[in-house]
Amino acid sequence: MTGQERSEEKSECVSMSPMMEADPALPESERVCVFGTGDLGHSLGLRLLQAGYGVVFGSRQPHSSSRLPHGAQVLGHAAAAQSAHLIFIAVQREHYDFLVPLANQLKGKVLVDLSNNLRKNQYPEANAEYLQSLVPGAEVVKGFNTLSAWSLQNGPSDANRQVYICGESAEAKQAVIAVATKLGFSALDRGSISVARELEDFPLQLFPQWRLPLRIAIGLSAAFFFYLLIRDIIYAYVTQGKDISFRIMVSLANKVCPIVSLIMLSLCYLPGVLASFLQLYRGTKYRRFPDWLDRWMLCRKQLGLLALGFAFLHVLYTLIIPIRYFVRFKVTERTVSVIRENRTTEFDTTTAWRSDSYLSLGILGFGLYVLLGITSLPSVINSLSWREFSFVQSKLGHLTLLLCTAHTYLYGWNRFLSSSTYKWYTPPGYMLCLVLPSVVLLLKLLLITHTHTHTQNNTLSMMTALSLRHELLFLCYCTLRGWLPFNHRLPCFWDQKPTITFH
Ligand code: NAP
Repeated sequence: MTGQERSEEKSECVSMSPMMEADPALPESERVCVFGTGDLGHSLGLRLLQAGYGVVFGSRQPHSSSRLPHGAQVLGHAAAAQSAHLIFIAVQREHYDFLVPLANQLKGKVLVDLSNNLRKNQYPEANAEYLQSLVPGAEVVKGFNTLSAWSLQNGPSDANRQVYICGESAEAKQAVIAVATKLGFSALDRGSISVARELEDFPLQLFPQWRLPLRIAIGLSAAFFFYLLIRDIIYAYVTQGKDISFRIMVSLANKVCPIVSLIMLSLCYLPGVLASFLQLYRGTKYRRFPDWLDRWMLCRKQLGLLALGFAFLHVLYTLIIPIRYFVRFKVTERTVSVIRENRTTEFDTTTAWRSDSYLSLGILGFGLYVLLGITSLPSVINSLSWREFSFVQSKLGHLTLLLCTAHTYLYGWNRFLSSSTYKWYTPPGYMLCLVLPSVVLLLKLLLITHTHTHTQNNTLSMMTALSLRHELLFLCYCTLRGWLPFNHRLPCFWDQKPTITFH
Protein backbone atom coordinates (compact mmCIF):
# COMPACT_ATOMS: atom_id res chain seq x y z
CA MET A 1 0.00 0.00 0.00
CA THR A 2 1.42 3.43 -0.90
CA GLY A 3 1.66 6.21 1.63
CA GLN A 4 -1.03 8.13 -0.22
CA GLU A 5 -3.40 5.15 -0.06
CA ARG A 6 -2.69 4.82 3.64
CA SER A 7 -3.55 8.45 4.31
CA GLU A 8 -6.72 8.08 2.17
CA GLU A 9 -7.69 5.09 4.24
CA LYS A 10 -7.17 7.03 7.44
CA SER A 11 -9.39 9.87 6.27
CA GLU A 12 -12.03 7.31 5.10
CA CYS A 13 -12.14 5.53 8.42
CA VAL A 14 -15.16 6.21 10.62
CA SER A 15 -15.65 4.61 13.99
CA MET A 16 -19.17 4.05 15.27
CA SER A 17 -18.03 4.29 18.84
CA PRO A 18 -15.09 6.24 20.17
CA MET A 19 -14.94 3.74 23.05
CA MET A 20 -14.77 0.56 20.99
CA GLU A 21 -12.82 1.29 17.85
CA ALA A 22 -11.88 -1.98 16.07
CA ASP A 23 -8.89 -3.03 18.03
CA PRO A 24 -5.81 -3.16 15.79
CA ALA A 25 -4.23 -5.48 18.36
CA LEU A 26 -6.87 -8.15 17.60
CA PRO A 27 -5.41 -10.97 15.50
CA GLU A 28 -6.72 -11.12 11.92
CA SER A 29 -8.74 -14.24 12.73
CA GLU A 30 -10.68 -12.21 15.32
CA ARG A 31 -11.46 -9.44 12.85
CA VAL A 32 -14.19 -9.80 10.28
CA CYS A 33 -15.21 -7.53 7.44
CA VAL A 34 -18.77 -7.00 6.22
CA PHE A 35 -19.42 -5.37 2.84
CA GLY A 36 -22.81 -3.66 2.83
CA THR A 37 -24.41 -1.74 5.66
CA GLY A 38 -28.01 -2.72 4.88
CA ASP A 39 -30.38 -4.87 6.92
CA LEU A 40 -28.39 -8.08 6.79
CA GLY A 41 -24.99 -6.39 7.11
CA HIS A 42 -26.22 -4.48 10.18
CA SER A 43 -27.63 -7.58 11.93
CA LEU A 44 -24.64 -9.72 11.10
CA GLY A 45 -22.24 -7.02 12.32
CA LEU A 46 -24.14 -6.75 15.58
CA ARG A 47 -24.05 -10.49 16.14
CA LEU A 48 -20.34 -10.67 15.32
CA LEU A 49 -19.60 -7.85 17.78
CA GLN A 50 -21.60 -9.62 20.48
CA ALA A 51 -19.56 -12.78 19.84
CA GLY A 52 -16.36 -10.81 20.44
CA TYR A 53 -15.20 -10.20 16.86
CA GLY A 54 -13.80 -6.87 15.71
CA VAL A 55 -16.05 -5.75 12.86
CA VAL A 56 -15.05 -3.53 9.98
CA PHE A 57 -17.76 -2.54 7.52
CA GLY A 58 -16.99 -1.80 3.90
CA SER A 59 -19.37 0.79 2.49
CA ARG A 60 -19.76 3.09 -0.49
CA GLN A 61 -20.34 5.99 1.88
CA PRO A 62 -18.39 5.33 5.06
CA HIS A 63 -19.11 8.85 6.36
CA SER A 64 -22.86 8.71 6.09
CA SER A 65 -23.41 5.17 7.40
CA SER A 66 -25.13 6.18 10.59
CA ARG A 67 -27.13 3.11 11.55
CA LEU A 68 -24.31 0.70 12.27
CA PRO A 69 -23.88 -1.14 15.55
CA HIS A 70 -21.74 0.48 18.20
CA GLY A 71 -18.22 -0.81 18.24
CA ALA A 72 -17.94 -1.33 14.50
CA GLN A 73 -15.64 0.55 12.20
CA VAL A 74 -16.70 1.64 8.75
CA LEU A 75 -14.28 2.16 5.87
CA GLY A 76 -14.29 2.31 2.11
CA HIS A 77 -14.38 -1.14 0.47
CA ALA A 78 -10.68 -1.22 -0.45
CA ALA A 79 -9.48 -0.28 3.01
CA ALA A 80 -11.98 -2.54 4.78
CA ALA A 81 -10.87 -5.51 2.67
CA GLN A 82 -7.30 -5.07 3.97
CA SER A 83 -8.39 -5.32 7.58
CA ALA A 84 -9.64 -8.93 7.68
CA HIS A 85 -9.18 -12.31 6.06
CA LEU A 86 -12.88 -13.14 6.11
CA ILE A 87 -15.30 -10.85 4.27
CA PHE A 88 -19.08 -11.24 4.32
CA ILE A 89 -20.72 -9.85 1.17
CA ALA A 90 -24.08 -8.49 2.33
CA VAL A 91 -24.87 -6.81 -0.97
CA GLN A 92 -27.36 -7.81 -3.68
CA ARG A 93 -25.89 -9.83 -6.55
CA GLU A 94 -26.85 -7.14 -9.10
CA HIS A 95 -24.19 -4.87 -7.55
CA TYR A 96 -21.37 -7.42 -7.40
CA ASP A 97 -19.45 -5.67 -10.19
CA PHE A 98 -18.14 -3.17 -7.62
CA LEU A 99 -15.88 -6.02 -6.46
CA VAL A 100 -14.03 -6.28 -9.79
CA PRO A 101 -11.75 -3.27 -9.20
CA LEU A 102 -11.00 -4.68 -5.72
CA ALA A 103 -9.61 -7.94 -7.14
CA ASN A 104 -6.10 -7.20 -5.84
CA GLN A 105 -7.19 -6.44 -2.29
CA LEU A 106 -9.45 -9.51 -2.27
CA LYS A 107 -6.76 -11.94 -3.44
CA GLY A 108 -6.48 -14.87 -1.02
CA LYS A 109 -9.40 -13.63 1.10
CA VAL A 110 -12.41 -15.72 2.04
CA LEU A 111 -15.60 -14.16 0.62
CA VAL A 112 -18.85 -15.36 2.15
CA ASP A 113 -21.69 -14.94 -0.31
CA LEU A 114 -24.90 -14.23 1.61
CA SER A 115 -27.08 -13.34 -1.31
CA ASN A 116 -30.47 -14.75 -2.26
CA ASN A 117 -32.64 -14.27 -5.32
CA LEU A 118 -36.21 -13.21 -5.80
CA ARG A 119 -37.15 -16.31 -7.76
CA LYS A 120 -35.70 -19.65 -8.82
CA ASN A 121 -33.42 -19.73 -11.90
CA GLN A 122 -33.28 -15.93 -11.95
CA TYR A 123 -29.70 -16.09 -13.23
CA PRO A 124 -27.91 -18.66 -15.39
CA GLU A 125 -25.43 -19.50 -12.63
CA ALA A 126 -25.52 -19.45 -8.84
CA ASN A 127 -24.66 -16.12 -7.21
CA ALA A 128 -21.67 -17.68 -5.45
CA GLU A 129 -20.32 -19.04 -8.75
CA TYR A 130 -20.82 -15.62 -10.32
CA LEU A 131 -18.94 -14.02 -7.42
CA GLN A 132 -16.11 -16.51 -7.84
CA SER A 133 -15.87 -15.68 -11.54
CA LEU A 134 -15.64 -11.96 -10.73
CA VAL A 135 -12.93 -12.44 -8.11
CA PRO A 136 -11.02 -15.59 -9.12
CA GLY A 137 -8.21 -14.89 -6.65
CA ALA A 138 -10.52 -15.15 -3.63
CA GLU A 139 -12.02 -18.25 -2.00
CA VAL A 140 -15.81 -18.00 -2.19
CA VAL A 141 -17.97 -19.78 0.36
CA LYS A 142 -21.76 -19.74 0.14
CA GLY A 143 -23.38 -19.56 3.52
CA PHE A 144 -25.65 -17.90 6.09
CA ASN A 145 -28.13 -17.01 3.34
CA THR A 146 -30.87 -19.14 4.91
CA LEU A 147 -30.94 -16.88 7.98
CA SER A 148 -32.92 -13.68 7.96
CA ALA A 149 -31.63 -10.38 9.31
CA TRP A 150 -34.23 -10.70 12.02
CA SER A 151 -33.16 -14.16 13.16
CA LEU A 152 -29.51 -13.11 13.09
CA GLN A 153 -30.25 -10.18 15.33
CA ASN A 154 -32.26 -12.33 17.75
CA GLY A 155 -29.61 -15.01 17.91
CA PRO A 156 -29.93 -18.69 17.23
CA SER A 157 -32.94 -20.46 18.61
CA ASP A 158 -33.82 -24.11 18.35
CA ALA A 159 -35.66 -23.64 15.09
CA ASN A 160 -32.97 -21.73 13.21
CA ARG A 161 -29.73 -23.01 14.64
CA GLN A 162 -28.61 -24.57 11.38
CA VAL A 163 -26.59 -22.77 8.71
CA TYR A 164 -25.58 -24.41 5.45
CA ILE A 165 -22.32 -23.72 3.69
CA CYS A 166 -20.61 -24.88 0.52
CA GLY A 167 -17.45 -23.99 -1.35
CA GLU A 168 -14.36 -25.40 -3.01
CA SER A 169 -11.72 -24.65 -0.38
CA ALA A 170 -11.83 -26.80 2.76
CA GLU A 171 -9.70 -24.24 4.59
CA ALA A 172 -12.03 -21.37 3.69
CA LYS A 173 -15.06 -23.40 4.76
CA GLN A 174 -13.36 -24.22 8.03
CA ALA A 175 -12.86 -20.51 8.69
CA VAL A 176 -16.56 -19.85 8.06
CA ILE A 177 -17.60 -22.81 10.21
CA ALA A 178 -15.46 -21.43 13.05
CA VAL A 179 -17.28 -18.09 12.89
CA ALA A 180 -20.71 -19.77 12.66
CA THR A 181 -19.92 -21.91 15.69
CA LYS A 182 -18.77 -18.90 17.68
CA LEU A 183 -22.02 -17.13 16.79
CA GLY A 184 -23.94 -20.09 18.24
CA PHE A 185 -25.00 -21.70 14.96
CA SER A 186 -24.25 -25.19 13.81
CA ALA A 187 -22.84 -25.24 10.30
CA LEU A 188 -23.48 -28.06 7.90
CA ASP A 189 -20.99 -28.41 5.06
CA ARG A 190 -23.02 -29.31 1.97
CA GLY A 191 -20.04 -29.78 -0.34
CA SER A 192 -18.63 -27.92 -3.31
CA ILE A 193 -19.70 -24.59 -4.78
CA SER A 194 -21.96 -26.42 -7.25
CA VAL A 195 -24.46 -26.86 -4.38
CA ALA A 196 -24.76 -23.06 -4.07
CA ARG A 197 -27.82 -22.86 -6.32
CA GLU A 198 -29.63 -25.32 -4.11
CA LEU A 199 -28.78 -23.28 -1.01
CA GLU A 200 -29.95 -20.12 -2.76
CA ASP A 201 -33.28 -21.79 -3.51
CA PHE A 202 -33.86 -22.75 0.16
CA PRO A 203 -35.37 -19.41 1.23
CA LEU A 204 -37.71 -19.46 -1.80
CA GLN A 205 -39.33 -22.71 -0.76
CA LEU A 206 -42.77 -22.51 0.76
CA PHE A 207 -43.31 -25.15 3.45
CA PRO A 208 -41.36 -27.77 1.49
CA GLN A 209 -41.81 -30.53 4.07
CA TRP A 210 -45.51 -29.82 4.42
CA ARG A 211 -46.44 -30.03 0.77
CA LEU A 212 -46.99 -33.78 0.52
CA PRO A 213 -48.73 -34.17 3.93
CA LEU A 214 -51.00 -31.20 3.13
CA ARG A 215 -51.90 -32.67 -0.24
CA ILE A 216 -52.72 -36.00 1.41
CA ALA A 217 -54.83 -34.26 4.07
CA ILE A 218 -56.74 -32.17 1.53
CA GLY A 219 -57.20 -35.15 -0.82
CA LEU A 220 -58.49 -37.42 1.95
CA SER A 221 -60.78 -34.71 3.37
CA ALA A 222 -62.30 -33.98 -0.04
CA ALA A 223 -62.72 -37.66 -0.93
CA PHE A 224 -64.38 -38.57 2.36
CA PHE A 225 -66.50 -35.42 2.40
CA PHE A 226 -68.07 -36.30 -0.96
CA TYR A 227 -68.36 -39.97 -0.04
CA LEU A 228 -70.23 -39.13 3.18
CA LEU A 229 -72.27 -36.45 1.45
CA ILE A 230 -73.60 -39.06 -0.95
CA ARG A 231 -74.14 -41.74 1.71
CA ASP A 232 -75.65 -39.56 4.44
CA ILE A 233 -77.32 -36.54 2.86
CA ILE A 234 -78.12 -37.43 -0.75
CA TYR A 235 -79.18 -40.98 0.17
CA ALA A 236 -81.72 -39.63 2.73
CA TYR A 237 -83.07 -37.16 0.18
CA VAL A 238 -83.39 -39.71 -2.64
CA THR A 239 -84.80 -42.64 -0.66
CA GLN A 240 -86.89 -40.86 2.00
CA GLY A 241 -87.33 -37.35 0.58
CA LYS A 242 -85.74 -35.91 3.77
CA ASP A 243 -83.63 -32.75 3.62
CA ILE A 244 -80.94 -33.13 6.25
CA SER A 245 -78.38 -30.95 4.48
CA PHE A 246 -77.83 -28.97 7.72
CA ARG A 247 -75.79 -31.96 8.90
CA ILE A 248 -73.00 -30.94 6.56
CA MET A 249 -71.77 -28.30 8.99
CA VAL A 250 -71.21 -30.37 12.12
CA SER A 251 -72.16 -34.04 11.68
CA LEU A 252 -70.37 -34.51 8.39
CA ALA A 253 -67.35 -32.49 9.51
CA ASN A 254 -67.21 -34.55 12.69
CA LYS A 255 -67.08 -37.71 10.61
CA VAL A 256 -64.47 -36.50 8.13
CA CYS A 257 -62.05 -35.22 10.81
CA PRO A 258 -61.55 -38.47 12.76
CA ILE A 259 -61.40 -40.50 9.55
CA VAL A 260 -58.64 -38.32 8.08
CA SER A 261 -56.87 -38.19 11.42
CA LEU A 262 -56.74 -41.98 11.83
CA ILE A 263 -55.60 -42.58 8.25
CA MET A 264 -52.85 -39.97 8.58
CA LEU A 265 -51.68 -41.41 11.89
CA SER A 266 -51.44 -44.81 10.19
CA LEU A 267 -49.47 -43.21 7.37
CA CYS A 268 -46.96 -42.06 10.00
CA TYR A 269 -46.28 -45.60 11.13
CA LEU A 270 -46.69 -47.50 7.87
CA PRO A 271 -43.32 -46.52 6.30
CA GLY A 272 -41.36 -47.72 9.36
CA VAL A 273 -43.08 -51.08 9.25
CA LEU A 274 -42.66 -51.37 5.46
CA ALA A 275 -38.98 -50.52 5.80
CA SER A 276 -38.52 -53.22 8.43
CA PHE A 277 -40.14 -55.81 6.20
CA LEU A 278 -38.08 -54.68 3.23
CA GLN A 279 -34.88 -55.13 5.22
CA LEU A 280 -35.98 -58.51 6.49
CA TYR A 281 -36.84 -59.57 2.96
CA ARG A 282 -33.46 -58.39 1.70
CA GLY A 283 -31.74 -60.00 4.66
CA THR A 284 -29.56 -56.95 5.22
CA LYS A 285 -29.85 -53.45 6.53
CA TYR A 286 -26.89 -52.26 4.49
CA ARG A 287 -28.86 -51.40 1.39
CA ARG A 288 -30.43 -48.13 0.40
CA PHE A 289 -34.20 -47.73 0.56
CA PRO A 290 -36.16 -46.59 -2.47
CA ASP A 291 -36.41 -42.81 -2.78
CA TRP A 292 -40.17 -42.76 -2.19
CA LEU A 293 -39.71 -44.49 1.16
CA ASP A 294 -36.97 -42.03 2.18
CA ARG A 295 -39.22 -39.10 1.33
CA TRP A 296 -42.19 -40.64 3.08
CA MET A 297 -40.20 -41.20 6.28
CA LEU A 298 -38.95 -37.63 6.23
CA CYS A 299 -42.45 -36.18 6.30
CA ARG A 300 -43.77 -38.30 9.18
CA LYS A 301 -43.61 -35.42 11.61
CA GLN A 302 -45.83 -33.28 9.38
CA LEU A 303 -48.21 -36.19 8.78
CA GLY A 304 -48.46 -36.68 12.53
CA LEU A 305 -49.02 -33.02 13.30
CA LEU A 306 -51.77 -32.75 10.69
CA ALA A 307 -53.34 -35.91 12.08
CA LEU A 308 -53.26 -34.30 15.53
CA GLY A 309 -54.92 -31.17 14.10
CA PHE A 310 -57.80 -33.25 12.68
CA ALA A 311 -58.12 -35.16 15.96
CA PHE A 312 -58.32 -31.85 17.80
CA LEU A 313 -61.14 -30.67 15.51
CA HIS A 314 -62.94 -33.97 16.15
CA VAL A 315 -62.72 -33.32 19.89
CA LEU A 316 -64.10 -29.80 19.50
CA TYR A 317 -66.97 -30.94 17.27
CA THR A 318 -67.78 -33.70 19.75
CA LEU A 319 -67.82 -31.32 22.71
CA ILE A 320 -70.43 -29.08 21.10
CA ILE A 321 -72.85 -31.94 20.38
CA PRO A 322 -75.02 -31.30 23.49
CA ILE A 323 -75.59 -27.64 22.57
CA ARG A 324 -76.65 -28.32 18.99
CA TYR A 325 -80.26 -27.33 18.20
CA PHE A 326 -80.88 -30.60 16.37
CA VAL A 327 -79.67 -32.68 19.32
CA ARG A 328 -81.63 -30.68 21.91
CA PHE A 329 -84.76 -30.95 19.75
CA LYS A 330 -84.39 -34.72 19.37
CA VAL A 331 -83.81 -35.25 23.12
CA THR A 332 -86.84 -33.16 24.04
CA GLU A 333 -89.01 -34.87 21.41
CA ARG A 334 -88.04 -38.32 22.67
CA THR A 335 -88.60 -37.41 26.31
CA VAL A 336 -92.03 -35.95 25.55
CA SER A 337 -93.05 -39.00 23.52
CA VAL A 338 -91.93 -41.36 26.31
CA ILE A 339 -94.02 -39.41 28.82
CA ARG A 340 -97.04 -39.17 26.50
CA GLU A 341 -97.02 -42.84 25.70
CA ASN A 342 -96.27 -43.67 29.33
CA ARG A 343 -93.39 -45.89 28.20
CA THR A 344 -90.43 -46.95 30.30
CA THR A 345 -86.99 -47.66 28.93
CA GLU A 346 -84.69 -50.32 30.34
CA PHE A 347 -81.13 -49.47 31.27
CA ASP A 348 -78.85 -51.45 28.96
CA THR A 349 -75.57 -52.32 30.71
CA THR A 350 -73.94 -53.54 27.49
CA THR A 351 -74.64 -50.23 25.76
CA ALA A 352 -73.31 -48.37 28.80
CA TRP A 353 -70.10 -50.40 28.72
CA ARG A 354 -69.73 -49.90 25.01
CA SER A 355 -70.36 -46.17 25.19
CA ASP A 356 -68.00 -45.61 28.14
CA SER A 357 -65.27 -47.75 26.62
CA TYR A 358 -65.62 -45.94 23.31
CA LEU A 359 -65.30 -42.54 25.01
CA SER A 360 -62.52 -43.62 27.34
CA LEU A 361 -60.38 -45.07 24.54
CA GLY A 362 -60.94 -41.89 22.54
CA ILE A 363 -59.81 -39.72 25.46
CA LEU A 364 -56.73 -41.86 26.16
CA GLY A 365 -55.85 -41.95 22.47
CA PHE A 366 -56.17 -38.19 22.19
CA GLY A 367 -54.06 -37.67 25.33
CA LEU A 368 -51.24 -39.73 23.85
CA TYR A 369 -51.73 -38.00 20.48
CA VAL A 370 -51.08 -34.66 22.20
CA LEU A 371 -48.01 -36.11 23.92
CA LEU A 372 -46.64 -37.23 20.54
CA GLY A 373 -47.27 -33.75 19.16
CA ILE A 374 -45.49 -32.09 22.08
CA THR A 375 -42.48 -34.38 21.78
CA SER A 376 -42.07 -33.40 18.15
CA LEU A 377 -41.39 -29.77 19.10
CA PRO A 378 -37.71 -28.89 18.54
CA SER A 379 -37.26 -27.55 22.07
CA VAL A 380 -38.70 -30.74 23.58
CA ILE A 381 -36.73 -33.03 21.26
CA ASN A 382 -33.54 -31.27 22.30
CA SER A 383 -34.27 -32.06 25.92
CA LEU A 384 -34.96 -35.76 25.26
CA SER A 385 -32.35 -38.44 25.04
CA TRP A 386 -32.44 -40.72 22.05
CA ARG A 387 -33.90 -43.52 24.20
CA GLU A 388 -36.70 -41.31 25.55
CA PHE A 389 -37.54 -40.11 22.05
CA SER A 390 -37.60 -43.70 20.82
CA PHE A 391 -39.88 -44.76 23.68
CA VAL A 392 -42.39 -41.96 23.05
CA GLN A 393 -42.43 -42.01 19.26
CA SER A 394 -42.31 -45.76 18.77
CA LYS A 395 -43.94 -47.45 21.76
CA LEU A 396 -46.41 -44.73 22.74
CA GLY A 397 -46.97 -43.90 19.07
CA HIS A 398 -48.11 -47.43 18.25
CA LEU A 399 -50.16 -47.48 21.44
CA THR A 400 -51.88 -44.27 20.27
CA LEU A 401 -52.69 -45.91 16.96
CA LEU A 402 -54.02 -48.97 18.77
CA LEU A 403 -56.24 -46.90 21.10
CA CYS A 404 -57.64 -44.76 18.29
CA THR A 405 -58.31 -47.83 16.15
CA ALA A 406 -60.05 -49.58 19.03
CA HIS A 407 -62.07 -46.37 19.63
CA THR A 408 -63.30 -46.57 16.02
CA TYR A 409 -64.06 -50.30 16.21
CA LEU A 410 -66.18 -49.63 19.31
CA TYR A 411 -67.97 -46.86 17.42
CA GLY A 412 -68.95 -49.44 14.79
CA TRP A 413 -69.72 -52.14 17.39
CA ASN A 414 -72.29 -54.57 15.94
CA ARG A 415 -73.19 -52.35 13.01
CA PHE A 416 -70.48 -54.05 10.94
CA LEU A 417 -72.86 -57.00 10.52
CA SER A 418 -76.06 -55.07 9.88
CA SER A 419 -77.09 -54.84 6.23
CA SER A 420 -78.82 -51.46 6.79
CA THR A 421 -75.36 -49.96 7.44
CA TYR A 422 -74.39 -50.48 3.81
CA LYS A 423 -76.41 -47.77 2.11
CA TRP A 424 -76.34 -48.22 -1.65
CA TYR A 425 -74.01 -51.17 -0.94
CA THR A 426 -71.29 -48.83 0.33
CA PRO A 427 -69.61 -49.23 3.73
CA PRO A 428 -69.66 -46.29 6.14
CA GLY A 429 -66.61 -43.99 6.26
CA TYR A 430 -65.39 -45.25 9.62
CA MET A 431 -65.19 -48.80 8.26
CA LEU A 432 -63.10 -47.68 5.32
CA CYS A 433 -60.75 -45.73 7.56
CA LEU A 434 -60.15 -48.81 9.72
CA VAL A 435 -58.46 -50.70 6.88
CA LEU A 436 -55.09 -48.92 7.00
CA PRO A 437 -54.56 -48.78 10.79
CA SER A 438 -55.60 -52.43 11.06
CA VAL A 439 -53.04 -53.38 8.42
CA VAL A 440 -50.30 -51.33 10.16
CA LEU A 441 -51.06 -52.87 13.54
CA LEU A 442 -51.17 -56.35 12.08
CA LEU A 443 -47.83 -55.89 10.33
CA LYS A 444 -46.36 -54.48 13.52
CA LEU A 445 -47.63 -57.50 15.44
CA LEU A 446 -46.04 -59.80 12.86
CA LEU A 447 -42.74 -57.94 13.26
CA ILE A 448 -42.86 -58.23 17.04
CA THR A 449 -43.71 -61.93 16.96
CA HIS A 450 -41.09 -62.53 14.26
CA THR A 451 -38.49 -60.84 16.42
CA HIS A 452 -39.44 -62.96 19.42
CA THR A 453 -39.74 -66.30 17.67
CA HIS A 454 -36.34 -65.81 16.05
CA THR A 455 -34.60 -64.83 19.22
CA GLN A 456 -33.10 -68.25 19.74
CA ASN A 457 -32.59 -69.71 16.32
CA ASN A 458 -32.08 -66.73 14.01
CA THR A 459 -30.14 -64.06 15.74
CA LEU A 460 -29.25 -62.25 12.53
CA SER A 461 -32.86 -61.80 11.52
CA MET A 462 -33.81 -60.58 14.97
CA MET A 463 -30.87 -58.18 15.07
CA THR A 464 -31.78 -56.85 11.65
CA ALA A 465 -35.36 -56.15 12.69
CA LEU A 466 -34.36 -54.61 15.99
CA SER A 467 -31.45 -52.52 14.81
CA LEU A 468 -33.36 -51.38 11.78
CA ARG A 469 -36.28 -50.18 13.88
CA HIS A 470 -33.84 -48.28 16.03
CA GLU A 471 -31.95 -46.84 13.08
CA LEU A 472 -35.13 -45.60 11.45
CA LEU A 473 -36.20 -43.91 14.62
CA PHE A 474 -32.72 -42.60 15.25
CA LEU A 475 -32.74 -41.08 11.79
CA CYS A 476 -36.04 -39.39 12.54
CA TYR A 477 -34.62 -38.14 15.85
CA CYS A 478 -31.52 -36.70 14.13
CA THR A 479 -33.65 -35.02 11.49
CA LEU A 480 -35.93 -33.43 14.06
CA ARG A 481 -33.00 -32.26 16.15
CA GLY A 482 -31.58 -30.55 13.08
CA TRP A 483 -28.62 -32.90 12.79
CA LEU A 484 -29.78 -33.71 9.30
CA PRO A 485 -31.31 -31.26 6.83
CA PHE A 486 -35.03 -31.88 6.78
CA ASN A 487 -35.76 -31.20 3.17
CA HIS A 488 -32.88 -33.10 1.75
CA ARG A 489 -32.20 -36.53 0.55
CA LEU A 490 -30.94 -38.60 3.39
CA PRO A 491 -27.35 -39.53 3.49
CA CYS A 492 -27.38 -43.27 3.12
CA PHE A 493 -27.49 -43.81 6.80
CA TRP A 494 -28.08 -47.52 6.62
CA ASP A 495 -25.41 -48.15 4.00
CA GLN A 496 -22.51 -47.33 6.21
CA LYS A 497 -21.54 -45.98 9.58
CA PRO A 498 -23.30 -42.65 10.24
CA THR A 499 -21.32 -39.67 9.05
CA ILE A 500 -23.38 -37.15 10.97
CA THR A 501 -21.57 -34.53 12.96
CA PHE A 502 -22.97 -34.14 16.44
CA HIS A 503 -22.92 -30.71 18.00
P1 NAP B 1 -30.13 -3.92 1.81
O1 NAP B 1 -30.73 -3.60 3.10
O2 NAP B 1 -30.72 -3.31 0.58
O3 NAP B 1 -28.59 -3.58 1.85
C1 NAP B 1 -27.75 -3.82 0.76
C2 NAP B 1 -26.49 -3.02 0.96
O4 NAP B 1 -25.68 -3.21 -0.18
C3 NAP B 1 -26.73 -1.52 1.04
O5 NAP B 1 -26.98 -1.11 2.33
C4 NAP B 1 -25.44 -0.96 0.48
O6 NAP B 1 -24.49 -0.74 1.53
C5 NAP B 1 -24.91 -2.05 -0.41
N1 NAP B 1 -25.08 -1.63 -1.82
C6 NAP B 1 -26.22 -1.25 -2.43
N2 NAP B 1 -25.97 -0.93 -3.71
C7 NAP B 1 -24.64 -1.12 -3.90
C8 NAP B 1 -23.79 -0.96 -5.01
N3 NAP B 1 -24.23 -0.52 -6.20
N4 NAP B 1 -22.50 -1.24 -4.86
C9 NAP B 1 -22.01 -1.67 -3.67
N5 NAP B 1 -22.77 -1.83 -2.57
C10 NAP B 1 -24.07 -1.56 -2.70
O7 NAP B 1 -30.15 -5.49 1.55
P2 NAP B 1 -30.07 -6.64 2.65
O8 NAP B 1 -31.43 -6.99 3.06
O9 NAP B 1 -29.08 -6.30 3.68
O10 NAP B 1 -29.55 -7.87 1.77
C11 NAP B 1 -28.22 -7.92 1.33
C12 NAP B 1 -27.96 -9.28 0.68
O11 NAP B 1 -28.18 -10.28 1.66
C13 NAP B 1 -28.91 -9.58 -0.46
O12 NAP B 1 -28.21 -10.28 -1.46
C14 NAP B 1 -29.95 -10.49 0.15
O13 NAP B 1 -30.47 -11.40 -0.78
C15 NAP B 1 -29.13 -11.22 1.19
N6 NAP B 1 -29.95 -11.69 2.33
C16 NAP B 1 -30.71 -10.82 3.03
C17 NAP B 1 -31.44 -11.27 4.12
C18 NAP B 1 -32.30 -10.36 4.94
O14 NAP B 1 -32.99 -10.81 5.87
N7 NAP B 1 -32.28 -9.06 4.71
C19 NAP B 1 -31.38 -12.63 4.48
C20 NAP B 1 -30.57 -13.48 3.76
C21 NAP B 1 -29.84 -13.00 2.69
P3 NAP B 1 -23.60 0.63 1.55
O15 NAP B 1 -24.56 1.73 1.34
O16 NAP B 1 -22.98 0.61 2.89
O17 NAP B 1 -22.60 0.49 0.44
